[in-house]
Amino acid sequence: MSELSIPGCVVVDHPLVRTKMATLRGKGTPCELFRRTLHELTALVAFEATRDLPTEELEIETPLERCSGHRLAHPVTIVPILRAGLGMAQAMLDVLPQARVGHVGMYRDEKTFEPKSYYFKAPPDLAVTDVFLVDPMLATGNSASDAATELKACGAKRLRLVALIGCAPGAELFRKKHPDVPVFLAALDPGLNAKAYIVPGLGDAGDRYFGT
Ligand code: URA
Repeated sequence: MSELSIPGCVVVDHPLVRTKMATLRGKGTPCELFRRTLHELTALVAFEATRDLPTEELEIETPLERCSGHRLAHPVTIVPILRAGLGMAQAMLDVLPQARVGHVGMYRDEKTFEPKSYYFKAPPDLAVTDVFLVDPMLATGNSASDAATELKACGAKRLRLVALIGCAPGAELFRKKHPDVPVFLAALDPGLNAKAYIVPGLGDAGDRYFGT
């Protein structure tokens, strides 16, 4: 799996990511541990996905003396794709507590596997923010592509996609449709089964996160 590589797709290669991914994938992992691990993995991938965010200097006063520090230069928006993206949004907020949160509601037609959009809400100043679209599974790539298109139509310019497991065809399709949007993953799997689930994957991320 790790030997796959797709231009514009960063697969975070780190012992903590690899070991937590084994926990997330395991079918015996209980809901509570699944949630906690999804949060931890999201924070680790976010570390890489935020690496090149511009910062600006500010002056701060420590208990001892004045010195210079840094803050993010632009506001940040996190946009989960409902519903599985909600868990990732919470974990992203842990490391980016100042972020605004938009929402994209998508469900997939169980026959065609095509995404259907049913909800969209984003902050009005999307154009001046760094936008992180989050969804744990980059499967066919259709939902993420459509969500990115909706966000761009509302002005998003600096957009990144953060997922946990991607698959080669989905990542390729996404990058073909949005070559300007970098993708960050914790793992890249080879493909999809006949029901458009990532294999080996982890099953249905939303069901496992919410215990449904
Ligand atoms: N959504 C999921 O939750 N899992 C997959 O494998 C594909 C899409």
